[in-house]
Amino acid sequence: MALDKTEAIVLKAYNWSESSRTVVFFSKEFGKIALFDKGGRSIKSKRGKVMPFAPLELTFYNSEKETTGYISDIEIHELFSFEKEGTLGRLAYASAATELIQKLLAEEQPQRQLYTYFINYLKQIDSVDKQFIPALFIAFFLRLLSLLGYHPSISYCIVCNSEIKVGGQTPILFGADNGGSVCNTCQKAGDYYISLSPEMFKIFVALQTASLQEAATVPIGLSKVTLLQEALIRFISSQTQTDCGLKSLAFIEKLKNSTNK
Ligand SMILES: [Zn+2]
Repeated sequence: MALDKTEAIVLKAYNWSESSRTVVFFSKEFGKIALFDKGGRSIKSKRGKVMPFAPLELTFYNSEKETTGYISDIEIHELFSFEKEGTLGRLAYASAATELIQKLLAEEQPQRQLYTYFINYLKQIDSVDKQFIPALFIAFFLRLLSLLGYHPSISYCIVCNSEIKVGGQTPILFGADNGGSVCNTCQKAGDYYISLSPEMFKIFVALQTASLQEAATVPIGLSKVTLLQEALIRFISSQTQTDCGLKSLAFIEKLKNSTNK
């Protein structure tokens, strides 16, 4: 059995008993890995605790014979606590990004660029003014899709490849099931489109190439961001043929409805 070391962050934990569980990590060196955590939940354990939103150094036994290795040691480097104003929203958008990575990443395929980007995303979610959090999430979502090879065509028509022109108040149609925006000439009756206002479309285009720092200057607001989230979730669900609905986003919707009352 080989002992390996890597930077990592927890994606999910499944409890088997009071003392044992399987923890799924996103690791810098090995990508997504699931490891047994024998006795790690015990209060007697002297080892570092498995905590969400905490980049850590992970030492683990990598079993070649068995399918799953197990955790040897954990040392927390940093812990994002999302204590600034809007904690629930920060937590929800940090969780939503974590859920997406858990759903979309294949096991044991290193994604170093995505790993670094994800940690930076959590840093931004922890520190920016709360009005910029939804834009950060959309920028993250778009970058994640591109890095994993699911780049949606937003600026160009997915059918004829012509540039989508914004004119007046005519809405732009995003064919989430077709892979991207569709121009006026190519739209087909009966197809499902998400209709974006010219203003929302411009933000969508800008966020596809924006850095996290740039995204953290765009206030979208929770009501408008819902449409973009819906567009991207439907897009990736269609691309992967799986339901990519996010529990954390359902939570945000509930939060919104309760604050609107
Ligand atoms: Zn077209």
